[in-house]
Amino acid sequence: MSKKNIFDLDPERLGTTDEFGHRVYMYPEDVKGVWKDRRKFFYWFLILIYLVLPWFNINNKPAIQIDIFHREFTFLGWTLHGIEPILFFFLVASGLFFIAFITSLLGRVWCGWACPQTVFIQTIFWKIDELIEGKPKARRELEAAPWSFNKAWRRMAKWALFIIVSSHIAHTFIGYIVGPRNLLMITVHHPAENWGLFLATLILTAIFLLDFGWFREQFCIIACPYGRIQSVFLDENSLVVAYDQKRGEPRFGTVEKGSEGDCINCYHCVKVCPTGIDIRRGTQLECIHCTQCIDACDSIMEKLHKPKGLIRYASENELEGNKHKVLTPRSVIYASIGVLFISAFAFFLNKSTSINMVFIRSRTPFTLSSEGKILNNFQLKLSHQGDSGPQVEFRVKQENLRNDIELITPSHPTVLKEAEHKVVFFIRFTPEVLKKTNGKITIEAFDNTTGEVLSEKEVSLVGPLSE
Ligand code: SF4
Ligand code: SF4
Repeated sequence: MSKKNIFDLDPERLGTTDEFGHRVYMYPEDVKGVWKDRRKFFYWFLILIYLVLPWFNINNKPAIQIDIFHREFTFLGWTLHGIEPILFFFLVASGLFFIAFITSLLGRVWCGWACPQTVFIQTIFWKIDELIEGKPKARRELEAAPWSFNKAWRRMAKWALFIIVSSHIAHTFIGYIVGPRNLLMITVHHPAENWGLFLATLILTAIFLLDFGWFREQFCIIACPYGRIQSVFLDENSLVVAYDQKRGEPRFGTVEKGSEGDCINCYHCVKVCPTGIDIRRGTQLECIHCTQCIDACDSIMEKLHKPKGLIRYASENELEGNKHKVLTPRSVIYASIGVLFISAFAFFLNKSTSINMVFIRSRTPFTLSSEGKILNNFQLKLSHQGDSGPQVEFRVKQENLRNDIELITPSHPTVLKEAEHKVVFFIRFTPEVLKKTNGKITIEAFDNTTGEVLSEKEVSLVGPLSE
């Protein structure tokens, strides 16, 4: 009986488990081709952005900072203070529907092209594997070999490099939360000065190390929630990495010579697959659309002088010979709901970035001054989610009253640095004002550099005549 090819997968179980349910480690072979080149270029572009962005300053602020401690989000020099739960909800919901829309059009394009899991593993961790332990065949043999000096030093060197890379990724991640100055500070100072951040960085390093160094494809297959639900978003018009059954079957060696399809059953597509599947069995949950098998098969077709594309990006409809629709009702619905949520986000953001004024009256509602004027005493609470630093001045909206009413605050202008700002606020007015206004005036807060009215609020005045 001929020996079974190790890449001829058992249809009853995952390629990443053996007959006893134990994990089978993947040693995907390297591949060359246009898709690999495109991905390599894009992956390095993403890594560069990830590593560099927290160090960039725009308007004296980090390019991106998600300051969860102060609930502040800085994006390209613009800061949103005290993010309200409703804004967060709309942002996440619009993001989810955007992902659903993209998935319905392009399948798991995120997994293959932009997921940090794929980007870091394929670009850096696979390279370290190869540098220290050699090609996939050598690594498989090393794994099976008993412990020896050769195996021990290679394992130690590999994990030492993994730790360095994971630590760097973790530090950068922390930089997105604490900002570049604090990142530099926690990097050069003793851990005892920043126990919290030090521990957070250690935990993150351990997570990246275990995931990118050891767990790898298991995360995509078992743990990733997106991987679990993505099939819901797909339909017969979604572009997926697919094997052209009509062209490839029957495979070489399964029928009489001369009547076979283009697949020569070389298993090259299986050998390069990082999740250990055989794409010839159709679209599978484990496929992360990394395009490795496209390049692998194209290289075989090239050698056979046959057209490339036996495995390619294609929709089910296209493979069946039906018309491929780019937009379907399902994708339009996803996009529309996404747009609705992002519009709601923009609407509430606009509302919440304007200044909100709350006048809290002091325990003594009014006092009388020696010149016969009435003094109303407040604490004014100013809150806003927009960028910090507007210089606010106050005035009475009714121009005809401005000579009779004085607005008194300790600072001119009031600079709003925080999301919430409290200021002592006095309104001094002549008794006639109560008669003229029925005890109600409107106070405007305006930006003293642009003159733009930022907010207005009606305030009740009290005095002896109102009793
Ligand atoms: S089947 Fe192809 S595209 Fe899917 S994970 Fe494997 S190599 Fe990547
Ligand atoms: S690489 Fe192409 S030819 Fe080889 S087994 Fe896969 S589909 Fe068939």
